[in-house]
Amino acid sequence: MSENVTTAVFEQWVRGFADLIAANREHLTELDAAIGDADHGSNMDRGMKAAVAALDESRPPTAGALLTKVGMTLVSTVGGASGPLFGTFFMRMGGSLGATAETVSAGDVAAALRAGLGGIVDRGKAAPGDKTMYDALAPAVEALEAALTDQATLATGLKAARDAAAAGRDATTPMLARKGRASYLGERSVGHQDPGAASVALLLDAAADAAS
Ligand code: ADP
Ligand code: MG
Repeated sequence: MSENVTTAVFEQWVRGFADLIAANREHLTELDAAIGDADHGSNMDRGMKAAVAALDESRPPTAGALLTKVGMTLVSTVGGASGPLFGTFFMRMGGSLGATAETVSAGDVAAALRAGLGGIVDRGKAAPGDKTMYDALAPAVEALEAALTDQATLATGLKAARDAAAAGRDATTPMLARKGRASYLGERSVGHQDPGAASVALLLDAAADAAS
């Protein structure tokens, strides 16, 4: 399978993610109010609106350069944990794809997501089960890799990744937070969905939509 994933697909992914974040801004903030400081929705919305504005100003020609630009914009506009973490995720994806690569395959997309996940771990040191965005993203990356190994198309693989991210998000509810602000609550973090994991589920929703 040698699909060429166009830069327009990545642009649609970023714009679709920004739309979903805007639509879910209050919900994300409510999740963060329960176990954090009630700013996750506004953090993500500010960052993704800035990312879209940066693309409106000039759209880089390649997927790698586009994702790097989105990541740099997130790092520079979002305070809090999620700006550097999502920013690093997008920058590592961009680095994995390469700024000058003209064509991107489905396998390249999976490798880029894997690199982005590695960036989040390098930056935040989250382990599985710590109740973070990692717990939604890691199963999504695994689901995409497994689907592509089974010769699925990118569209089908990203649908599996979307479902895995949603399940991973839901699985954070009973977890005890061990990273970030929620960890200060100890046992009181149990029984609440992690806001960063909820944002990752939206990220994969947007990816599945962009590729379909
Ligand atoms: P802050 O916690 O600084 O207010 P946000 O509210 O925007 O930032 O983001 C909180 C989210 O960041 C959490 O729900 C969690 O998913 C994620 N997070 C926090 N710390 C880490 C970490 N060390 N590794 C991975 N994700 C983390
Ligand atoms: Mg917060």
